[in-house]
Amino acid sequence: MGQTKHKKTGKKQLTLKEQAVAIARVAKLSFQTAPGAVLFKLVGAVVGAVVPLMTAYFAALTTTSLVDAYGGNESARRAVLWYVIATAFLGLFSLVWQSIDQYIQASMRYRVESKVADQMYEQFLSLDFWRYDDKTTADLYEKAQKFAQLFAWVFDRLAAIISQLIAMFAGVGALFFFNSWLALAVLVAIVPGVYLQFKLSRAQIAHWNNNVDARRTKSMIEWSLLQPDKITELRLYGMVRHLLDMRMSMRDKDEKVRIDFERHFMSKRLMADVLQAAAEVGSLIWVTLEIIAGRQAVGQFVYVQQVVGRAMGAATGFVSELSTVDEEVANLFEYQQFMQLERSSSRLKKVASTPGSIEFQDVSFRYPNSRQWVLRDVSLTIRQHQHIAIVGENGAGKTTLIKLLAGLYTPTKGSVLVDNKPLNEFDVGSWHKQLALLRQEFTEYGFANVRDNVLFGDVEKNDPEQLRVALHDAEAADFTSKLPYGLNTFLMNWIEDDDGNKGVELSGGQWQRLALARNFYRDAPIIILDEPTSAIDALAEARIFNRLFKEKDKTIVVISHRLTTIKKADVVYMMKDGRIVEQGTCQELIGRRDEFYRMFESQIQ
Ligand code: ADP
Repeated sequence: MGQTKHKKTGKKQLTLKEQAVAIARVAKLSFQTAPGAVLFKLVGAVVGAVVPLMTAYFAALTTTSLVDAYGGNESARRAVLWYVIATAFLGLFSLVWQSIDQYIQASMRYRVESKVADQMYEQFLSLDFWRYDDKTTADLYEKAQKFAQLFAWVFDRLAAIISQLIAMFAGVGALFFFNSWLALAVLVAIVPGVYLQFKLSRAQIAHWNNNVDARRTKSMIEWSLLQPDKITELRLYGMVRHLLDMRMSMRDKDEKVRIDFERHFMSKRLMADVLQAAAEVGSLIWVTLEIIAGRQAVGQFVYVQQVVGRAMGAATGFVSELSTVDEEVANLFEYQQFMQLERSSSRLKKVASTPGSIEFQDVSFRYPNSRQWVLRDVSLTIRQHQHIAIVGENGAGKTTLIKLLAGLYTPTKGSVLVDNKPLNEFDVGSWHKQLALLRQEFTEYGFANVRDNVLFGDVEKNDPEQLRVALHDAEAADFTSKLPYGLNTFLMNWIEDDDGNKGVELSGGQWQRLALARNFYRDAPIIILDEPTSAIDALAEARIFNRLFKEKDKTIVVISHRLTTIKKADVVYMMKDGRIVEQGTCQELIGRRDEFYRMFESQIQ
């Protein structure tokens, strides 16, 4: 099959060799996760292939003895009885095996699936923070997730593939002992059919891979059309018909290609089928002639018919099973790549106490996979208990600066020092214990109630008094007390608590107040707020910051666009194009009548 072919979409189809390697890896991975299941499946594959052959063998013996018994042979009569009993036992054995198999399958499936998924989550949650922003990691994770979800299924399919393979060889082998020419003829007749089926499924898979984007668009359209919160806009804009038409034309195009493939292969497949049928009929004619000539027992007719049919069926089954796992097996490579990503190290020393200073020393920064310098030669020092404001236009680099401060990224050049030691030499978890960081894209825990939304700020404590204070300081006490079930109210209108009380929906500003309360509840020595009050009205914001900046035992770093807030800071850093262009108190910066003054002119007046 040659080299891996890269398709338009960049998705690749595995070569046969890669497929074999991948299958071996699934087997190894399964064996490591659940050795018992693999062994059971292997034995099952052999049983599944051999029992029908034995049944055919006894059917042949039964038929032969029946004919003899009919001719008056007394010992043949007894033999028939034994053969029927043996056949019945085989049938019973198959039934028992199947029900054990179902049970083992269900329990092992669960074990294999949960273990693979758990390992994947562990890995995802231990990566360096920068990876969560990284598209390559996101793509890998998506595919790994898909693979993990389907792992148990792939595992079952592989067992089926092995079983079909064994059945095919066992069938041909059984014929070989009977008559080697017959075995050879059947083998030759199987090959073209298998080859064609293989080609067809490769073509279908290639088409599937080429069409991934169109299919993804189609399912996104279908999804949007069924979302209550999306449908309003779609109907208001009159887009529904347009989207339905788009969806239909994509579906029809996709199906047409598939049907064209079938048509293209139809005549060839017919010839292959004719060849198989000819081999099957030929074997039956041959065995009939042999029986008539007295060279074979009557029952061999049944034997040949059963065994040839099974060998051919298993060959076809093998190829179609193989094609069903092709895509999932391809995802295995991504899964393994994902599992090999380096985890963030936890062997580093811990930040033991609140630092006296945090210093940016000539820090320049580019995001991984990006060539744009987002921070350039930034130097600043934040002393303990200092209150800092960072200002600048959108895209100036403020949020990035905070990400570096939180140790989510490390500087490309220069360093961030904590008490004169590089931050990246400390364990990042211990650093985060010192911080209460409220990001612009904070999380709305809709599945939790109001109380938990605040307590999530520090899951190691449950302090009702601090909870009350945090809600008050974040201007959230008033609206939360008016909610139908107070702090027990869930924050999504389709969630109900155990008593059947329905949740409510909050406004953007209310969510922000709750997120601020969570941040305050954390009670960390260093508070970092990235535009924490953008959706909160000016009066409430003023009250929040009046209280916050009165805290003299906290280090506070806040990004803000409101002059009333900025005025309260000890030092203001103005950023532009990744550089700090001005710094000083708010009054000093206004007095300079430069960049800062121009940016805040309207608010100053
Ligand atoms: P600000 O907070 O001042 O609005 P940011 O620090 O968010 O600015 O962004 C500064 C620049 O960095 C912008 O040009 C933005 O496009 C770029 N940027 C932000 N996040 C990423 C990222 N994850 N990958 C690549 N570039 C980014």
